[in-house]
Parts: sequence; C-alpha cells; structure tokens
Amino acid sequence: MNNYFVILAAGKSKRFHKNKAKQFYKYKNKEIIDHSIKKALDSKLFKKIIIVTNDLNHFKKKKYPKQISIIKGGKERSDSSLKALKYIKKYKPLNVYIHDAARPNFSTKLLKNISKNLKKNKAVVPFISSKDSIKYKIKNQIFNLNRKNSLLTQTPQAFRFKQLYNLACKEKKKVSDEATLFLNQNYKVKFISGENQNIKITYLNDIKNSKTYFGIGFDLHKLIKKKKLYLGGVKIPFHSGLKGHSDGDVILHAIIDSILGATRKKDIGTYFPNIKKFKNIRSPKMLKPIQDNLEKSNFFINNLDINLICEQPKVSKYRNKIISSLSKLMKINKNFINLKGKTVEKLGLIGKEKAIACEVIVSITKYD
Ligand code: ZN
Repeated sequence: MNNYFVILAAGKSKRFHKNKAKQFYKYKNKEIIDHSIKKALDSKLFKKIIIVTNDLNHFKKKKYPKQISIIKGGKERSDSSLKALKYIKKYKPLNVYIHDAARPNFSTKLLKNISKNLKKNKAVVPFISSKDSIKYKIKNQIFNLNRKNSLLTQTPQAFRFKQLYNLACKEKKKVSDEATLFLNQNYKVKFISGENQNIKITYLNDIKNSKTYFGIGFDLHKLIKKKKLYLGGVKIPFHSGLKGHSDGDVILHAIIDSILGATRKKDIGTYFPNIKKFKNIRSPKMLKPIQDNLEKSNFFINNLDINLICEQPKVSKYRNKIISSLSKLMKINKNFINLKGKTVEKLGLIGKEKAIACEVIVSITKYD
C-alpha cells in the first residue's frame, strides 16, 4: 500500500465566487475538499494524503487524522502538483494519485478500479465521453470533432511515482493535468471509464442545492348523521359524515395545511374562510389551487405521511382506495404516500365515533 493521494486545492476559483474559494464551500454537509479526503481515507488505499493549498490558515482548526499532511501550493496547478511530488519523495512512494479538490463526487469504487489498473500500468486516467457535440475552431473555420474519439479526462489520475516525478521535474510548460506529461512523451496511458457524477465544480451554479422543507398539518371534524363521509377524496360508506363548512375531509384539509406549512403560506382558513362562496365545497377543489401553486413555484413533493385518527371506519379496508385517490389528486406516485390508522382506545369524542382527526407531514423540495 505504498500509495499517496495528493489533493490540489490551491486554485483561486475566480469563476466560482469572487471571494470564497470553492474548495471550502459547503456542499452536501461538508466542505467540498472534505469529500475527497473522506473518500481517500475510506478507500484505505493510501499511506498519506497530501493537501496542497495556499490558505494554510484555513486548515488550522481542522482535526484530520495523522496521515493527512497540508503543504503550501504554487502559483499554477502544475506548480502545486510538483511541490507535492517533491514533498512526498522522501517517503519513497510507489504510486501517486493526483486529484483536483473541485471533484468531490467520485466514488471509492473508482479509486479501487484505478488501483487495480495501476498494477499493470504506469499511468491510469479516468475519462468519460462527451454528451454534447464538440466543434473546434482553426482560424475562422469550425470543424466537427467525432464525439467517440474525444475523451474528457477526470481526476483522480494515478501514476508510478518515479516516472511522474521525472517527467514533472523536466517539464517547462504549464500542463493542465498529469496525463499530459505522459502523453507529451508518447508514454502509454491506460484510460479507464470515469464517472458521470464526477464533475468538476467550476461555477456556483454547478452545486446550487435544491432545498427541502417539511410541513405539518392537523384537522378534526365532528361526525354527524345524514352527511356523506369523505376521506382523502374517497366517499366511504359510514353511519355519519364529517360536519364542516366544506365536505369536512380531514385528510385533505390536513394535507393542505401541511403543504401551506412547508411553503410558509399561512393556513387553510386564509384561503378558504367560512364564507358563502365556499359553502359545501368539495375538498379536492380546495386542494387544486394549492397543488397548482406548488407546481408553478417549482416545488416537488417527496413524500407524505398521514395518521388518520378514528375508531371507525377501519383504515386497512380503505387504505388502497384513499392512497390511489391522493396519488391522483396530488400527482405523485403511490409509493410516496403512507397512510396509518390510529385508534384512541375508545376514549373521548374520537373514541365514541363522534369525530375524526388527521395529522400529516409532508416533505417538499424546491428546484430552481
Ligand atoms: Zn377541516
């Protein structure tokens, strides 16, 4: 396991943000650079992990394991890379992996695949094919590049230390990656499949997070004779129905309130006050504008969990029907809806079948 992992994190990333270095930006609960560190550690492939940075101060507060070293970088990427190679020379490494901190999304599987290929090769470089058509320009003419023959190379790239060290020391030009050093000398490079998710974060937009919100809803209506019972938009045969200005559908009302909660839009009474206009309104009609507004504002429902609190009717008997109805009304897959029945030991109004209550929690995500 005489392998070393070098993470280049000395870039100024001006395209990303004018005063925040992207490698320190929070992404999926961690700084971008810490994703690469964790994966290198998890893989158990490396004796040492070397971080090359021009902001040594930033790392002072960090509590990394001993096998991580932090060294000062150079002006250009290739300068930083060479500094790292010179730094690890004393350990007599067999292999060295060079990685850009701006690629936090590679998998440990990719690391292992690189390691496997490195046994028989001195340079292993992951690549993907372009999904876009590529053109190139010579003087004023534009040519088509055959997509199949174009390789988009990624990092980590891995090399036999000795070869890379010698090439890097000799190279006078600034190269954009280490594979170039090998290719410039016509040395063999083993290209292996990279990963589509292993993008290089360049612009803030590349990682603009969609945000997830939760909302809670609760409703209760009294049961009265000579009224139809609606639950989740389904008519249920029962001795009573739910009293209310509307059809009293506690499930839909609690759902509406949960959505309004998650989107911070007050409550159901704000939109449907007890006025003549809404007398005996069916609840699916109340849900519709709320649902439409969700879609318009780029919200997407992840899942819905419902507690229907009543002694009768038995939820198990109507569960599938209610879930189907909700799935249609809310335009979400049935798999994302859960309906639980809850009795109250025959206690109180609900226990004596004088009322039905419902509580709902919803999770929604906003996309830009
Ligand atoms: Zn209600």
